Amino acid sequence: MTTETVEPTLPRYAQSSLDALATSVLASLGVPGEANPLRLAPAGRVCLLLVDGLGWELLRANQAAAQFMSELAATGTPLTAGFPATTATSLGTLGTGRPPGQHGMLGYQVIVPGRGTLLNALRWDRAIDPQAWQPGSTTFERAVRAGVKVARISASQLQTSGLSTAALRGGEFVGADTIGALVSRAAAVLAAEPPVLAMVYYGHLDSTGHVLGCTSDAWRYELAHVDKLAEQLAEALPRGSVLHVTADHGMVDVPPGERIDADAVPGLRDGVGLLGGEPRARHVYCRAGAAGDVLATWRTLLGGRAWVVSREQAVADGWFGPVDDRCAARIGDVIAAPSGSWAIVATKAEPHESALIGMHGSLTPADQLVPLLTLSAG
Ligand SMILES: [Zn+2]
Repeated sequence: MTTETVEPTLPRYAQSSLDALATSVLASLGVPGEANPLRLAPAGRVCLLLVDGLGWELLRANQAAAQFMSELAATGTPLTAGFPATTATSLGTLGTGRPPGQHGMLGYQVIVPGRGTLLNALRWDRAIDPQAWQPGSTTFERAVRAGVKVARISASQLQTSGLSTAALRGGEFVGADTIGALVSRAAAVLAAEPPVLAMVYYGHLDSTGHVLGCTSDAWRYELAHVDKLAEQLAEALPRGSVLHVTADHGMVDVPPGERIDADAVPGLRDGVGLLGGEPRARHVYCRAGAAGDVLATWRTLLGGRAWVVSREQAVADGWFGPVDDRCAARIGDVIAAPSGSWAIVATKAEPHESALIGMHGSLTPADQLVPLLTLSAG
């Protein structure tokens, strides 16, 4: 494990992060009141391709497998995903145009205040009303209100998830269960009278990386399919469309020996009520009065290999952007994010997640930086 102290790559909310991309896309479509810090040109038809797990550094390291996107990357730019660099949080940020501290989708597993349980944002919990959990307007709702035709095109099974309702509600859902279907459905949606916004989501690059590693042959082969998806979208879109390709987070491979097990290392569970987040972005929820001791213990045990801070410090340093009172209690009393390619696993509480190879969530460039690739069709 590395021992050097490195600076975190802090999210650049409202400037060049996923919240800025959301509002800039709306502004480019003429939606009033939306900021355009990315200075996107006016467009009548926008296709936003969201590739789960396509980190900027991974794309730059695998140019041979992704020639189409790599050419776009020459004029593209990296954005920061936000913290934690994980799908639930980034979908919230992209889906609302607001930072995590305001939309409240604060990680893979976060505490439900008052209930004392963890909400897994991908599996959700029927007892939690997603609209009450994230009551603010979504990017898509604001677009629809401004007269934009909006469609979200992705695997059918994602239509009714709690996360989708919380973060992405509004507009039409179009199920498409193969790469070819994603392209043809997107082209059909984009053929409508402008203004039109179509978001295409593809999830298998992330799942391939989690199970087999983002440095595996399988990941590179999958990347080539993603590259073809982007190329086919660019070719299929009607004239006057703009294609943006982005991602929700990057990824690192964590070798088997580079894991600290919170369920085995003495001390890491002392004073801890619930361990939330995920292996590269931990929300540590402490028992009453124990936060100071837990912070000290985690700092001692993790040494200089992680950013370990109090909730107050993380908020003050802007990890989540401005934080609404409604959302503050969902943040861990202590937060820990590895600064190298290692992870804080919990082999008893999270046997499945702890066995993965590819992981993400932290404030390293490999986790944080995602591409913004833009192409005008026709
Ligand atoms: Zn993932």
